[in-house]
Amino acid sequence: MINIFRTLINFLLPHRCLCCGVVLASHDSLCADCFNNITFISKPYCKCCGRPLYTGSTEADDLYCVSCLNKRPNFRYSRAAIRYDNFSKRLVLDFKFAAHIENKKLLARWLYLAGKDIFEAGADLIVPVPLHYTRLLKRKYNQSAVLAGELAKMTNIIVDYDVLKKIKYTLPQTQCDGKQRHKNIKGAFTITHPERIKGKRIVLIDDVYTTGSTTKECTKTLLKFGAKSVDILTVAKVID
Ligand SMILES: [Zn+2]
Ligand SMILES: [Zn+2]
Repeated sequence: MINIFRTLINFLLPHRCLCCGVVLASHDSLCADCFNNITFISKPYCKCCGRPLYTGSTEADDLYCVSCLNKRPNFRYSRAAIRYDNFSKRLVLDFKFAAHIENKKLLARWLYLAGKDIFEAGADLIVPVPLHYTRLLKRKYNQSAVLAGELAKMTNIIVDYDVLKKIKYTLPQTQCDGKQRHKNIKGAFTITHPERIKGKRIVLIDDVYTTGSTTKECTKTLLKFGAKSVDILTVAKVID
């Protein structure tokens, strides 16, 4: 009886590829064509910032890029699951703006896999990059908070949704060039309850890492208010 019911549901509401909409046998996934168009970021990459390296073994764990060797960033690790390009852009933007919230499970699964080093090293608290309340009212949900919630279920790490708060209304970072991005976001965040992050290893979640201005500013704020360390975990990353 249950099987007949399930067949009927599948017939009426078939599982579809989250990217192109073609009918699939399983839910929360991509068809083979779309999957092949996604570029997953894999080793060898810099142990600190996760930037792909074009030399070195795929097994090597202690490689650093020139930039991190010269000056260590303020975060502990930064990892991203996929490369942000013309193809993955659609998946990420649909999730952010077009209420394709059903993509959350797939994207969070990718976050979980990309964050292996972070979870192995140990993390105490997941914190999503916040939206300013006016933008939240307009969009109805914060895509980073949705991902953080899904990731929490997989890792059993607690999420704190409102300890990091955006207090300054900023232009969308996509409207600023590299230098302006930093200026635009400077001083945009604060911590509402410092005792909730004090001495904790934080995993900061965002959907896309472009120049890193936003996540670096969040990291600076979290460290200033007493976090022990900050790791950055994003679904996609712009790689130049
Ligand atoms: Zn597809
Ligand atoms: Zn690096």
